[in-house]
Amino acid sequence: APGRDLLAVEGLQVNYGPVQALRGISLSIGEGELVSVIGPNGAGKSTLTLAVAGIVPPAAGHIRYDGADLSGRPAERIVRDGISLVPEGRHVFPALTVEENLIAGATPARGRGNVDPAALEEVLATFPILKERYRSAAGKLSGGEQQQLVIARALLAKPRLLLLDEPSLGLAPLVIDLVFDILARMRDAGQTILLVEQNADRALAISDRTYVLRSGAIVLSGASADLAVDPAFDEAYFGFA
Ligand code: ATP
Repeated sequence: APGRDLLAVEGLQVNYGPVQALRGISLSIGEGELVSVIGPNGAGKSTLTLAVAGIVPPAAGHIRYDGADLSGRPAERIVRDGISLVPEGRHVFPALTVEENLIAGATPARGRGNVDPAALEEVLATFPILKERYRSAAGKLSGGEQQQLVIARALLAKPRLLLLDEPSLGLAPLVIDLVFDILARMRDAGQTILLVEQNADRALAISDRTYVLRSGAIVLSGASADLAVDPAFDEAYFGFA
C-alpha cells in the first residue's frame, strides 16, 4: 500500500525563455506508488522529469523529495540522493557492450566501474535478455532491448525514485507489453516510479494514479482505473469530447 509522499511537487513553473513549459503544477508520489503523467506532444512531460532530476531550474514552486526541498541541489547530488532518470530516446553507448553500458551507469558515489555485484546480479535476473547479450555491442540490440538496458542502468544506482520518460516510444506493441510487464513487476517489488507517457491507454492500465498534463497544466487527475472510464477523460487529454 502507498505510504507517505516520497515526492511532492508544488506550483512548479518552468520556462524556456519566453516559453512557459510548466505553468504551476502540483503532484505527489507516495512511497511504492507507480504514478503516470500523460499528455500529448509538447505538454511539458519531459520538462517535469528534467526539473525533478535537477537538470532544468524551476522559475517558481517547490520540489520536495523525502521531505526536503530540492531547490538548488545539483543534478549529480540528486542522483546520489536516489533519483534516477531514464530520459526519452534510449541513450546507450552503441559501440560499448551491454556490460560496459551497465558499468558506465554505476552510481557516482561508488565511482565509475565500481558496480555493486549484488545489484548487478539482481538487475540481470530482472532482464535476462541483457545477460544473454552481455558481450554484444549495445548498438546491435533491438529497440526493446536498448530500452531494457537503459532501465537496467538506472536501476543499478538503486534509486528510491525512478523517473521514466516515454519508455514505449517507437516500440512495437508486443515489446511495449514486455517493458510494461517489467515496470509492473518493479512496482510490485516496491519500486517507486514516475512514468511519463504519451501512450495514455498503457499508462492508465499500469499505474496506480494518473495526472493528465496539457499545455503545461494538470487538467485532470485521479486513480488510473477511474480515469480510464471517466467521460471527462477524452476532453481533458485531447481537448475535445
Ligand atoms: P514530447 O512528448 O514531445 O517530448 P513533452 O510533453 O515532453 O513533449 P516538453 O518536451 O517538456 O513536452 O516541452 C514542453 C514545451 O516546452 C513545448 O512547448 C516545447 O516546445 C518547449 N520546449 C522544450 N524544450 C525546450 C527548449 N530547450 N527551448 C525552448 N522550448 C522548449
